[in-house]
Amino acid sequence: MTAQIIDGKALSKQLRVGFRERVDHLADQGVQPGLAVILVGDNPASRVYVGNKIKACEECGVRSFHIALPADTPQAEVLATIARLNADPAVHGILIQLPLPPHIEPRAVLEAISVHKDVDGFHLYNVGGLVVGNTIFPPCTPYGVQLLLDTTGTDVAGKNVVVVGASNIVGKPMALMLLQREATVTICHAKTRDLAQHTILADILIVAAGKPGLIVPQMVKQGAIVIDVGINRLTDGPNAGKIVGDVDFDGVKEKASWITPVPGGVGPMTVTMLIENTLRSAERTLRMRQADDFQEWEAPILKNG
Ligand code: NAD
Repeated sequence: MTAQIIDGKALSKQLRVGFRERVDHLADQGVQPGLAVILVGDNPASRVYVGNKIKACEECGVRSFHIALPADTPQAEVLATIARLNADPAVHGILIQLPLPPHIEPRAVLEAISVHKDVDGFHLYNVGGLVVGNTIFPPCTPYGVQLLLDTTGTDVAGKNVVVVGASNIVGKPMALMLLQREATVTICHAKTRDLAQHTILADILIVAAGKPGLIVPQMVKQGAIVIDVGINRLTDGPNAGKIVGDVDFDGVKEKASWITPVPGGVGPMTVTMLIENTLRSAERTLRMRQADDFQEWEAPILKNG
């Protein structure tokens, strides 16, 4: 069997066509969605990620606010910047590019972002929302994976899903989202003993470990759906400089029923879901503005956000 390719680039493009209509509809109501991206320091990879996000905003008709702060910016100043953006009605989404310089406490900064504008989905309120199944903004990468899975027409309920990687931004939220859809979910991580013993049982295998070549064909069940979240730049060997995932794509595609390529699988979806969350935020703000009673819309905790 040769797996069918789950084309993240194509799905992303298709979703962005739909965004145009939503942006036009918001414009009719006098709203232009706005996303603020804060970069502290000059990490080269972060600069590329931020550049991609700003470019996606431009392509989709979303106004972007790029706030570049020097690496030695005191935490208090970063918090003051966030407070200003929280209060700015032109800004519907705020994200702070991670990692942050060591003198800045990431949780303090993430918790300072209004839950109404937390389009990355990293605020504790949104993280907690994943547990009970009513998050306002799902985190972008797992959200994108969920849509990619949907394109295969597979109902995940009752399926054995194995998530390899347990980070706060990918593995854990991914597992919670699929548990919410009634999958039987196993989470593996660096301390898991005999990884293959778990992965071989997976109807759906999602890999986000950041280890090239981690998943080889012997670890994959015949006919499994394989989603490769990993993005690794090879540093040596004949393919030095090449971007690869965590899965041995050429080998595993002969066993899987569906597989995502790297690049062109999960990667393009992450930025697209960020724009989706920003549009959703702008639409939500508009609805709240139109509602007579704010309380009808939100739990009281959100009034402080
Ligand atoms: P992380 O380093 O925060 O977490 C990695 C996780 O993998 C940890 O839970 C760790 O325990 C686990 N792990 C490491 N080695 C392992 C092993 N040998 N066996 C089993 N588990 C192992 O990384 P992250 O931020 O979650 O990112 C993971 C990968 O996904 C990276 O390659 C990253 O670049 C990529 N990523 C891609 C996107 C995208 O848009 N496609 C978004 C975020 C992250």
